[in-house]
Amino acid sequence: MKKQALVSLILALLVFSLFSIAKAQADQVDQPDGPVYIVQPGDSLWAIAARFGISMDDLADENGIADPAQLTIGTRLVIPDFEGLSGVLVFETVPLGENIESLSHRYGMPREALLRLNRLTSPDEAYAGAQLIVIQNEGDVQTAFASGGRATLRADQSLMETAITRGVSPWAVMKDNQMRGAWDLLPGENIYLSNEEELDFGAMPEEFTGIEVNPFPLIQGHTLVLKVDAPDMTSLSGKFNDRELNFFPLADGGYVALQGIYAMLEAGAYSLILEGTLTDGTSLGFSQQVLVQDGNYPFDPPLVVDSETTDAQNNETENELWFAIVAPVTLEKYWDGLFQSPVPEHLSNCFPSKFGNRRSYNQSGYYYFHTGLDFCGRPGVDIYAPAPGRVVFAGPLTVRGNATVIDHGWGVYSAYAHQSEIQVSERDWVETGQLIGLVGETGRVTGPHLHWEVIVGGVQVDPLHWLSQTYP
Ligand SMILES: [Zn+2]
Repeated sequence: MKKQALVSLILALLVFSLFSIAKAQADQVDQPDGPVYIVQPGDSLWAIAARFGISMDDLADENGIADPAQLTIGTRLVIPDFEGLSGVLVFETVPLGENIESLSHRYGMPREALLRLNRLTSPDEAYAGAQLIVIQNEGDVQTAFASGGRATLRADQSLMETAITRGVSPWAVMKDNQMRGAWDLLPGENIYLSNEEELDFGAMPEEFTGIEVNPFPLIQGHTLVLKVDAPDMTSLSGKFNDRELNFFPLADGGYVALQGIYAMLEAGAYSLILEGTLTDGTSLGFSQQVLVQDGNYPFDPPLVVDSETTDAQNNETENELWFAIVAPVTLEKYWDGLFQSPVPEHLSNCFPSKFGNRRSYNQSGYYYFHTGLDFCGRPGVDIYAPAPGRVVFAGPLTVRGNATVIDHGWGVYSAYAHQSEIQVSERDWVETGQLIGLVGETGRVTGPHLHWEVIVGGVQVDPLHWLSQTYP
C-alpha cells in the first residue's frame, strides 16, 4: 500500500512536470514577435500607427483588430516591423545631460535600435525635451536583441576574446560597461558591446553633479531658471541659443542663471552650452540641444494706432535704446520673493491684454507680439514699484510714451509705459510698493492703461509669472 502510494506520487509528479514543460513551450510559442505597446488613455489606432511609422492596417492585422474604433485602454499591441526587439515600448522625455549614447546604456538598447525605433536620422535629433520611444524590460527580464548589442560571456571566454571576436576594443568594452578592469566581469554576465572603437558618451561631465531646468521643456516667453551644481568648479559660464547666461552663486551652493526665452523664438531645438573651470585650471564643457515649445499665444484683432508710432525707423531707434538700458547685469540681487502688483489691488486682476499676444498694427502682418502685461486703469491711477531696485530710465519715448525702467539686479528689469506722470528720476532707489508714476495714455495706445514689462537677460518675459512664482 505504501509502495503504491509512492508510485502514484511519482507518476503524479511526472505528469505534472511534463505538463509544465508543455505549458512552458506553449508560452514560448505565444511570445509576440516584436515589441509591445500598451494602449494609453487618449490613444487611437491611427495615432499609434503614425507614431511608430507603420500603417494602421498592418497594426490592426497584426493584432486581429476588426474595429479600430474599439480600442481598449491597457490592450497590448504588438508593433510589427521591429523584428528582433522585444519588451514594452514607452515614451520618455530626454532629460538634459543625456543623449543617444547614454540612453542606450540606461535602457540597455543598442543605439541603432533607438535610432530605428524613433526614426531618427542623426543622434542630434535626440535633444533634451524630445519624446523618445524606448523599450522597458518587463520585470527583470533582459531585453533580447536578435543582432548586436548584448553578449553573454561564456565561462571559457575572457573579456579580451569576446571583444576581439566581436571586433571591438576590450578597453571600449570596459568603458562601455563601466568596469574598472576585466576582473570586474563574471562569466555568464551580460556585457554591452559597441560597434565603435572609441566611444564618446557626450553626456554631461561628472563634475556637473546636478542640473535643474525650469520650465522643461522650455516655453516661449517664459523665464528659464537653470540651476547647476558643480562643487569643484571655480567659475561657470554658458550660453543659450544666442544669449550669454549670467550665473550667480546660490546661498545653499551651486549656481543659477535666469534667462528670458524670446516669445517669438520659433519652437524647436536650440543649443545650451555650459563651461566651467576646475580648481586646477582645467576647463570642462558640455553642450546639448534643448527643446523650446510654442507658448500658444493668441492672435489679437488687428490694431489701428497713430502711424507715427508704427514707423519702422522710430521703432528701431527706440528698441535700440530700450535694450541698451536693460543690457547691464548688476551683480547684486535686489528682490526677494514674489513681485508685487504694480497697480492698486482692485485693478490687479484686470488685464485688457496679456503678454505674448501676436499683433498686427495698421494692417501689417502679425510681425509683432505684446511685450508686456496691460493693466486696466484710468489716467491718474497709482503705479507702484513691484520690488526694490534702482531707476535706470525715466523719460518720454515715441512708442512707450512716458516710461520708467527699474533695475532689480541679476539682469532683471521691470518697465512702465504710457504713464501720464513719472514720479521718480534716474538713479533713484525705490522700495516695494513705492509710488513711481501715474497711469496715462501716452505713446502707442488705443486707450489709457499701464503697459508693464519684465525683462530678464535682455528678453521680455511674461510678467504674470513673476507675480505668482518666486525666482530663482
Ligand atoms: Zn501693452
